[in-house]
Amino acid sequence: MLGWTGNFLNIDLTKSKAVPQQFSESLAINFLGGRGFAVKVLWDTLQQGTDPLSPENKLIFATGPLTAIGLPNSGKLVVASKSPLTGGYGDGNIGTLAAVHMRKAGYDAIVVEGKASSPVIVQIKDKVTEFIDAKEFWGKSSFETEERLRQQFGRTTGTLSIGQAGENLVKFATIVSQEGRSGGRPGIGAVMGSKNLKAVVIEGTGPIPLADPEGMRKLAAEGYKEVLTKPLYQFWKRQGTMSTVEWSQENSALPTFNYRQAVFNKADDIGGFAMEKIKTSNRGCPQCNMTCGNVVKDSEGQDSELDYESVVMLGSNIGMGNLAEISTLNRLADSYGFDGISLGNVLGFAMEASEKGLVKDKIVWGDFEKTKIMITDIAYRRDLGAILAEGVRFASKVIGGGSSDWAMHVKGLEVSAYDCHAAPGMALAYGTNSIGAHHKDAWVITWEMKVGRGNYDSGKVDFVIKNQLIRGGLFEALTVCRFPYNSLGLKLEWYQKYLKAATGRDFSLEELNRISDRILTLMRCFWVREYKESWSRELDVPPMRWFKEPLTEGALKGSVLDLQKYNNMLSIYYEKRGWDERGIPTKATLDQLGLVEEAKQLCSYVRIKE
Ligand code: SF4
Repeated sequence: MLGWTGNFLNIDLTKSKAVPQQFSESLAINFLGGRGFAVKVLWDTLQQGTDPLSPENKLIFATGPLTAIGLPNSGKLVVASKSPLTGGYGDGNIGTLAAVHMRKAGYDAIVVEGKASSPVIVQIKDKVTEFIDAKEFWGKSSFETEERLRQQFGRTTGTLSIGQAGENLVKFATIVSQEGRSGGRPGIGAVMGSKNLKAVVIEGTGPIPLADPEGMRKLAAEGYKEVLTKPLYQFWKRQGTMSTVEWSQENSALPTFNYRQAVFNKADDIGGFAMEKIKTSNRGCPQCNMTCGNVVKDSEGQDSELDYESVVMLGSNIGMGNLAEISTLNRLADSYGFDGISLGNVLGFAMEASEKGLVKDKIVWGDFEKTKIMITDIAYRRDLGAILAEGVRFASKVIGGGSSDWAMHVKGLEVSAYDCHAAPGMALAYGTNSIGAHHKDAWVITWEMKVGRGNYDSGKVDFVIKNQLIRGGLFEALTVCRFPYNSLGLKLEWYQKYLKAATGRDFSLEELNRISDRILTLMRCFWVREYKESWSRELDVPPMRWFKEPLTEGALKGSVLDLQKYNNMLSIYYEKRGWDERGIPTKATLDQLGLVEEAKQLCSYVRIKE
């Protein structure tokens, strides 16, 4: 098998055992890698109803056939598990040297199960795996952990670790690598913590088997050059995703005061141009020449790496208008190992609950000092922090007072940084996203602004599906960064050429679409199998605030989504995906995607239509 190493590494932490496992060529061709491998392994090996924080849950690190072979932006891996935050399929991707080393060590994925009896570091050095006592690391921040790992294992080794949030099982804890690159929004860091796994350290030195190594070298060099010629390249290097702050402000999409206003009077102070004034350098993932991490000095004089999502969620969404202070909150989030999006979301929820007198704790919008304390309280699960550590869906159930309408989540995953009061297409993208309310699979909002934000037509549904298949299916399975494609316009044909050079196989765009559809459909099956008969189409509807409470400020003041029209659009979406009116794939759809055995299994948990 060329393009893939052909091996997984199965690790049982309870037994301190690591066993390589060859996988079949048909798995590679039908699921490609990354998210595709992760969902197939979870579907095949996880018992329905497994407690996400039990030893039985699996923690998966997965790469794809284009990972780490020296082509543009290919130093990524997917981290996945059954999510403790949502109860469904959860994953995220991280740009990390660990991805490069994993492939060079001869593995396309590492599957971890069990629980170590005390904190442990797993060290993988080519074919040798060791279990190293990590008691001295436990309780340390992700930054300190990484620095110690570098000292102990060498500065060029790949590392993946958790901070205190993961150790304390905060439901939106992430896995961190290279100071600020983190992934696994739906609590994948908590899964790692539940296994007493503080870090994975990987060093690989072997070759990655390629069908045409010379052709790949040439193509990769051309790809990097092509990226440099893109008109937006220079500006991207200056601001990365940060220019989205100004765009969201201009277009009434900026989450502000827990998604109430969509514009913020201090947006200019926290935007891309303000960031440039305090920027000191760029950071990036391995094998990337677009390095989009903006390093700035924060209000305490320390480095903090900024991107749009975290700045906005820890900025306008909680009423913070001082970028240096936001940078400090962002550094704290990375250091504890939180997902910055969910953190800003639950903080906004807490501030609104405080404003409405629903909690006894007083936490006022934009109060920097109190916010720092609250972040620490969440990391250590103290007082109100213990409730917020469970995520906004849980917090709204505890706090009550009608807060479920403004607990901003879909299926338990907190909404990321786009207000959708006047963006039904983006609302559908959030509603139907494969891990909950995340923008990654279908960031359609800029396109939607151009075609008319007021309509709910089937063209929007088509565009959401197209994006989900390419961004959420293809890129997450190839396991390379999508930004050269969607932010600079590198054509998809480049990835077909890369695949041919890696695997020796021609993949048509139609075939890649079908693979993506298979992956995303199996992710949906995973959710449905977990939720069983409690599954309903309401789970694909975004928060009621966007339907019931009109925008309170800005040019689009008064805007609100129409629930009936949204539901019509959702029905069209289901029909186009071959899912029934509850959003469950039909047997015909599953059969057509080659998921025949999966269909039989799903039948034993829910009624599925022919
Ligand atoms: S563009 Fe940004 S996210 Fe993508 S690989 Fe480069 S540094 Fe990482």
